[in-house]
Amino acid sequence: MGGKSEVPLLDKNGKRIDGRDLEELRPVKMEVGVLKKADGSAYVEWGGNKVIAAVYGPREVLPKHLANPYKAVLKYRYNMAPFSVDDRKRPGPDRRSIEISKISREALERVVMLEYFPNTMIDVFVEILQADAGTRCAALTAASLALADAGIPMRDVVAACAAGKIDGKVVLDLKKEEDNYGEADMPIAISPRTGEIVLFQMDGLMTKDEYMKALRLAVEGARKINEIQKETLKDKYKITNLSGGDNNE
Ligand code: UDP
Repeated sequence: MGGKSEVPLLDKNGKRIDGRDLEELRPVKMEVGVLKKADGSAYVEWGGNKVIAAVYGPREVLPKHLANPYKAVLKYRYNMAPFSVDDRKRPGPDRRSIEISKISREALERVVMLEYFPNTMIDVFVEILQADAGTRCAALTAASLALADAGIPMRDVVAACAAGKIDGKVVLDLKKEEDNYGEADMPIAISPRTGEIVLFQMDGLMTKDEYMKALRLAVEGARKINEIQKETLKDKYKITNLSGGDNNE
């Protein structure tokens, strides 16, 4: 949040720099089962973001002393590739990626049925290949798909989306310039079945009314993302031949 931009983020017709309306999502594409070696995987393109998620487990806990006899240990690693941003990002974890990993893990712990797999570990890795703001939302959306692809029992498929404020207006799904020069950014994630908010963060300032509007927008955005997640999973796992006949796939 860099305060008011010298370059206007909205044109005279109220359109955003990429031509979007205030309440419009960026184009989103999803795919599951993209990695052979992982138990589950997903690829998400969300505007200028490109994200890949891989899930391994439930598997042996390492180091062993972390094992929990009552439930599986969930690990989540969010990592930005050095080439994912304009300036090279220094490889390895930093404060930001550790924070994002923590809150994303906590969001998934609300839905993954960890109690089914005591003394095991479920590893979730997310790599940001290309970043254009909203990467934590794209990452969590991809991670949730990858967990479903791995066949790990979940109460729900977590979906995320951000809303915020640019040039005095509440908008959905900020891109990089809007995130950098806008007034507020509020990423959230929901468990769509229950409506529970499983991740909530906010950066910048909004009035109470703006905040209420942004929250409504972000939840609606996450619900749209969840529809695409469900379609993606259905497409992958649809049974094409119920008769069990000449299906060569
Ligand atoms: N960003 C960057 N270098 C960094 C961290 C972030 O260029 O070390 C960019 C990147 O495009 C990212 C955006 O700033 O998507 C917004 O970052 P933020 O911390 O708000 O997280 P995000 O919106 O991606 O979840």
